Amino acid sequence: MAVLLKGSEVVNAMKDKLLDSVEELRKQGIVPGLAIVRLGANPDDLSYERGIIKRCEGLGIKCSVHEFDEQITQCDLIREIGNLNNNEEVHGILIFRPLPRHIDENVVKHAISPEKDMDCLNPINVAKVFEGDTSGYAPCTPEAVVEILDHYGISVEGKKVVIIGRSLVVGRPLSMLLLKKNATVTICHTRTRNIEEVCKEAEILIAAAGKAKMVTGSFISEGQTVIDVGINVDENGKLCGDVDFDEAEKKAAYITPVPGGVGTVTTSILAKHVVQAAMKKRAKD
Ligand code: NAD
Repeated sequence: MAVLLKGSEVVNAMKDKLLDSVEELRKQGIVPGLAIVRLGANPDDLSYERGIIKRCEGLGIKCSVHEFDEQITQCDLIREIGNLNNNEEVHGILIFRPLPRHIDENVVKHAISPEKDMDCLNPINVAKVFEGDTSGYAPCTPEAVVEILDHYGISVEGKKVVIIGRSLVVGRPLSMLLLKKNATVTICHTRTRNIEEVCKEAEILIAAAGKAKMVTGSFISEGQTVIDVGINVDENGKLCGDVDFDEAEKKAAYITPVPGGVGTVTTSILAKHVVQAAMKKRAKD
């Protein structure tokens, strides 16, 4: 049976460092501030938002929620983002995606200040991830995967890592973060042939396809580390990952659960980014 890579352990390990940094800022009269921009009231967004607020406020980060009607015009949204860019109390901004169809994400992504862009929406931050420049903010979820591997001492150096999924939110930036750590990375996607065989070759297999339990036992080889980024709902309405956990854990050496794995750590990475943004601003002021 595989060893469980628990997100809560990683979160606890990050907590003390973050609390120290927040205290250091507080002594100088600075309270790190996160602005959450949400359009409409999608239940999944609301649940994610509650998790963010709980985690951030537990660390002394002030959260403000900027809820707008789903029908807000692009022009008004850009103006609101501009206001947050100029707000001295806001160190980081998170815009929930996907945006409604009438809003062009290509316009919005340029509107958010790169210094306040906590989840790598602005192309400047995206470029930094691809250049291996750590001065920006990587997307929270790929960074959470790296944090989990680091925490459990699972080195990727020289190893065969296979990622299922090539989105700009998870798969592609994750491949760059792992490449920077000298992994040998393969990305699989919907057109990949013999995907099971490719995945079996991996020493570390990361699933980010958004397809419930698609990674069955036949994708897994003995001794693999399996990281499940997927968040899906199964046939019984229960939360599940992209990996068929029961099948995978019989062969894998290490595996992340869903829930309680990558998603749990993602929120702490967001909190870390806000604290970093507050520290960078202090250094500039
Ligand atoms: P996406 O739909 O944008 O991208 C999915 C990718 O997977 C695509 O590149 C596609 O080519 C590939 N794919 C889909 N089906 C496949 C298949 N059958 N075989 C091979 N490749 C396949 O999704 P995303 O935004 O990258 O998210 C992926 C998953 O991660 C989703 O379940 C999402 O809910 C989850 N997610 C989790 C977190 C977290 O914090 N844990 C954050 C973001 C996304």
